[in-house]
Amino acid sequence: MLVAIDGPVGAGKSTVARAVAAHLGFTYLDTGAMYRCVALARVQDESADRTRPVEELAIDFEGTRVFLDDMDATDVIRTPAVSQRASEVATDPAVRENLVERQRALTQRGDWVAEGRDIGTVVRPDAELKVFLTASDEERAGRRAAQTGRTLEEELADLRERDERDRTREASPLRQADDAVLVDTTGLSFDEVVTRIAQLVDDVRGPATTPKDAGT
Ligand code: C5P
Repeated sequence: MLVAIDGPVGAGKSTVARAVAAHLGFTYLDTGAMYRCVALARVQDESADRTRPVEELAIDFEGTRVFLDDMDATDVIRTPAVSQRASEVATDPAVRENLVERQRALTQRGDWVAEGRDIGTVVRPDAELKVFLTASDEERAGRRAAQTGRTLEEELADLRERDERDRTREASPLRQADDAVLVDTTGLSFDEVVTRIAQLVDDVRGPATTPKDAGT
C-alpha cells in the first residue's frame, strides 16, 4: 500500500509522514531529501569545477539518515542555501525524470508513506490514499521560524518564493490531485493531524478484523 502526502513548504509533511509511517509500520520516503541531495551535489560540483549527471549520483537512505555518494548529507541538506537550490534543481525536467523513476522503483514493493510535491499526481497516481497537506502561510512560516531561529518575515519570504517556483514550474508543478483529501492543519495539533490521516488510511483499508463475506 502507498500513502502519498503532498503539499507546500512547511505544511508539516515530513514530521507527519514520519509519524504516520511509524504508526502503520510502513516505510517513510522523503522525496524532498532526494532533490536536496542533487542540489548539494551541484554546490559541490561548482567548487570542484565539474558536473556530475544526476544519474551518476548515489542517493541512499539508511534509517533516518540520507547519504550522497557515501557522505552523510542529512544535516547539510537542510540549510537555507541548499533549500533554495533544491527548489531550483527541482524545475529541471532531467532531474525530475531521474528522481521520479527512482521513487517509483523504491515504492514498488512493500508499504510506504511517501511525501513530496508530486507523489499523488506524477510519481504514483495509483496511490491508495492521497493527502494534500496544507496550512496558512503565517502558520507554516511560524513553524519554520521556531525550528530555524530565523525571523517570521524571513521564513515567510523564503517559503513564498519556493512555493511560487513549485506551483509555476512547467515540469510537474505542485497541485492537489483531483482525488486527494485536503487536510488543512491550521490550528490543529500534531497528534490531531496524525490521527486524521491514520483514520483516512483505515477508511481505505477497511477494518482489519472484518471477516470476508462468509458463504458468498
Ligand atoms: O520537501 P522539501 O522542502 O524537503 O523539498 C525540497 C525541494 O524539493 C522543494 O522546495 C521542492 O521544490 C522540491 N521537491 C519537488 N518534488 C518533490 C519533493 C520536493 O519538487 N516530490
